Amino acid sequence: MKKLEQMYEGKAKKVFRTDDPERFIVEYKDDATAFNGQKKGTILGKGAINNRMTNMLMQVLEKQGVPTHFVEELSERETVVKKVTIVPLEVIVRNISAGSFAQRYGVEEGIVFDEPTIEFSYKNDDLGDPLMNQYHALALKLATKEEIDTIKSMALKVNAVLKEFFLGVGIKLVDFKLEFGRTTDGTVILADEISPDTCRLWDKETNEKLDKDRFRRDLGNVEGAYQEVMRRLMGE
Ligand code: UDP
Repeated sequence: MKKLEQMYEGKAKKVFRTDDPERFIVEYKDDATAFNGQKKGTILGKGAINNRMTNMLMQVLEKQGVPTHFVEELSERETVVKKVTIVPLEVIVRNISAGSFAQRYGVEEGIVFDEPTIEFSYKNDDLGDPLMNQYHALALKLATKEEIDTIKSMALKVNAVLKEFFLGVGIKLVDFKLEFGRTTDGTVILADEISPDTCRLWDKETNEKLDKDRFRRDLGNVEGAYQEVMRRLMGE
C-alpha cells in the first residue's frame, strides 16, 4: 500500500490517503505539545514507540472484542488503519484522580475511585477542548444517542482490558483519552492512539510517572519513561 497525499497533520501524527479508498496511513511524529499547544517540544523516539505501543494495544483490544481501526503496521512509524471520520469527542476514562480532575475538584492526585469515571470534551482546538456532557454532545449533534451509548460501553470495556493488561507489567492505568470514528458503513470503532501521550501511567510500586506528564511538568527523563513502558509491554 502506498502513501498518497496528506489528508491531515495533527500535533503528533500525519494522516495520508492511500490507493485503497477504505484505508489511511498514519505516520507518528516525535513532536510533543501540551496545554492546548502552548508548550512545544520533541521527544526523541516517541513516534516509533507510540506507533508500536498503539498497535500492540489495539490488537489486544480486538482480541477482547473491541473493534478498532488497526489494520497493519507498515514500518517503525507508519500504520495502515481503516478510514473513519472521527467523532469530535475526546472520551476520558479515569481510575485514579490526576490532572484536570484533581485541579477542577480541588483534590489531590492519587485517589483511587471505586468505579471508573467517563467524561467528554468537545474536540475543538479553537475552544480549547471544553468539557461537555452527553446531552450537550447530543444537542450539538456530535453523535447520536445510540453512538454515545456505544462509545461509553466501549470505553469501559477498553478500560477493563487495559487496566488489567498494564497491571500485569507493573503499571497503574490512572486515566486515558480515547477517540472513536465512524467507518463508511457507520459502524463506531476505536481510532486514534493509545500511548504515554494519551494515558497516565504510574509505576505500580513507586507511583513514578511514566507518561507525558514528565514533559508537561518538566520532570526530566521523558524519553526514558516512554522507553520503559515499551520495554515492559514487550517483555524485554
Ligand atoms: N488527554 C489527551 N489529550 C488531551 C487531553 C487529555 O490525551 O487533549 C489525556 C491525558 O494524557 C490524560 C487524560 O487524557 O491521560 C486525562 O487528562 P486531563 O483531563 O487530566 O487533562 P490534562 O491534565 O492532561 O490537561
